This record gives sequence, C-alpha cells and structure tokens, in this order.
Amino acid sequence: MDEKKVVLLEGDGIGPEVTKAVVHIFEQAKAGIEWLPAEAGAQAVESQGSPLPDSTVDTIREVGLALKGPITTGIAKGFRSVNVQIRQALDLFANVRPIRSLPEVKTRYDNVDLIIIRENTEGLYSGLEHEITPGVVTSIKVSTEKACTRIGEFAFSLAQKQGRRKVTGVHKANIMKLSDGLALDCYRAAAAKHPEIEYDERIIDAMAMSLVLDPCEFDVLVMENLYGDIISDLCAGLIGGLGLAPSANIGADCAVFEAVHGSAPDIAGQGVANPTALLLSAVEMLHHIGNSECADRITSALHKTLASEKTRTRDLGGKLSTMDFAKELVARLDG
Ligand code: ATP
Repeated sequence: MDEKKVVLLEGDGIGPEVTKAVVHIFEQAKAGIEWLPAEAGAQAVESQGSPLPDSTVDTIREVGLALKGPITTGIAKGFRSVNVQIRQALDLFANVRPIRSLPEVKTRYDNVDLIIIRENTEGLYSGLEHEITPGVVTSIKVSTEKACTRIGEFAFSLAQKQGRRKVTGVHKANIMKLSDGLALDCYRAAAAKHPEIEYDERIIDAMAMSLVLDPCEFDVLVMENLYGDIISDLCAGLIGGLGLAPSANIGADCAVFEAVHGSAPDIAGQGVANPTALLLSAVEMLHHIGNSECADRITSALHKTLASEKTRTRDLGGKLSTMDFAKELVARLDG
C-alpha cells in the first residue's frame, strides 16, 4: 500500500516532545504515513526570519494534510499567531473538537460525548485592532453571512453524518445583536434544511454554566471563534484536562490536525507532557483518510495504557515521561 503523505510541523514548547511520541507510535503501528517535515514557529524565525514561511503554507496546500504541534503565540513581536494564520491562509473554516470521556480517566462525569464546531476564520480573531488615540483601542469582531452560513451548514451535515441528534447554536446575540444575530439567522437557516436534527440555542454564559452542571445534555455545539476557544478549554477540563483534547481544522481542500492545548511553556523541555491530545488528533486524521482499522488499533492500545496509573503521564497522576508513555502504548498495540 502506498504511504499517505502528511506534512509534519513539530511546533514550539512541548510540541517537539509530543510530536516525537506520536510519530513513534504511528511508525510502530505501521500507520502507512510518510511524514514531510516543514518549519513553522520559533525554528522558522531562526532559520528563515518568519514564523510561517510561504513555503510551509504552500506545502500543506499541495499535500492537503498536516499534523501540527502547538506554536507559541507571540513568539516574535509584530507577528500574528501562527496557529491563526495557518487556519486563515488555508481557509480551514471549521475547527472540530470532539470532547469524549475516556472511561479510564475518572472525572466528575462518565459519559461526556459532544463535539464543538468552532468557526475558525473570523470573529474577534480578525486581527483588526486599532489604537484610536493613546489609551483607547478597538478590536473588531467580523461576522459575515458567508462564514456563518458555512459553519452552520457544516455543523448540521456533520451531525447528520455522525448520527447525532441535536445542534446547539451558542451566542451572545442579546448584547451583540448584529454580529451574533447574523450568526443565529444563519444557524437557523441551516437548521431548517435539516428538520431531522433538533436545534436549540444557548447564550454563551448560560452555556458555560450548563456544561459544568450537566454536559451530557449536549451533543453538537456550533459557535464563533472566541467562544469556541474558551468553551473548548472548559470542555477539556470536563474529561480530564488539556492533555486529552484533540482537534481538526477542516477546509474544502485541506485539513490540519492539532491538539486543543498550546505550547505549555511551563512544562516544555521536561519530557513530561501528555501526548494523548496530539495522538487523538492524529487518530482523527486516520479516520479522515479512511484508515479506521489503524485508528481503532491505536485507540484500543491507548485505552489499555491509560487503564493503570503506573502507565500514565504526570497530568493524570502517573510518573511516566512523554516517550515512556508512547513506548508503553506501543507494547499494547497488538496485545
Ligand atoms: P495558549 O495561549 O497557546 O493557549 P497557554 O499557556 O495559555 O497557551 P496551554 O499551553 O494550553 O495554554 O497550557 C495550559 C496549561 O495546561 C498549562 O499548565 C500546561 O502545562 C497544561 N498543558 C497543556 N498541554 C498539556 C499536555 N499535553 N500535557 C500536560 N499538560 C498540559
């Protein structure tokens, strides 16, 4: 079988550590991936003077698939977040963030199973900030009918494909009447085309409380960029932390898979980061390219590894290093 080409961006901070662990697991699992390393982040600033060289964006566009470690936000003054730039440059308009309880990881709730669909290209991430006069700045939230319609339709069609029962539109249209009002109009229009899927709406602040009180009430959540950023971390907390939350950035022609977490400078270089979030992102990539057999094999080994505290990383109460965790998982691949 031909190997599938995937661009590999190892990222900053804990990025290289978790990426190395995932690549090791994929190689041992014979996942059939040919990794094409490309530069972004601190490494690229040093060698090419830019945190996101055009050649990296062009390579991802050409190959169509990438696995990406986190890139530190604000690594170089004057440069915009590289994570955001990649999403915008490749028009990866939908950020899909599945939040599923892992049965081995005990948390307050056992059965969380929801999917956050975060609009990835506009909102308060437009990057349009101005200093009007010293001491007065504005930050512009952009909301377009095109992007709101596209993300609304994406949420419903994903719900339909995955046999989900409900989509919830998350908003603050009581305050941002025009921008979030437009988003709601677009979600409602998408809902009207999918009468088989239930649709409801929640104001973002009430949503945060409801998720903490009863996350099992929810199924697919669709929301603008900043709300998705914040709600994703809240939801990662519901299933055991940022070390466990994967994501996929999906566009019409390209997909970039990355963990929800950032570069975690507080633990970088110590070899203690949990590679599970990036591994689950890479597993989502295997499903995306139709290699579910290998995805399921790796997922099953992951569950076996997480089953004992002795074979966990520090964030989950264990003592294993990032790479030792990967090796324990490999030992459970076919057993
Ligand atoms: P960003 O602005 O890029 O989101 P951040 O520092 O605000 O970065 P994270 O890098 O996601 O946020 O880290 C938040 C906390 O979660 C930190 O204490 C970090 O150590 C922890 N954390 C993040 N990822 C992991 C991981 N894979 N394993 C263990 N702990 C992690």
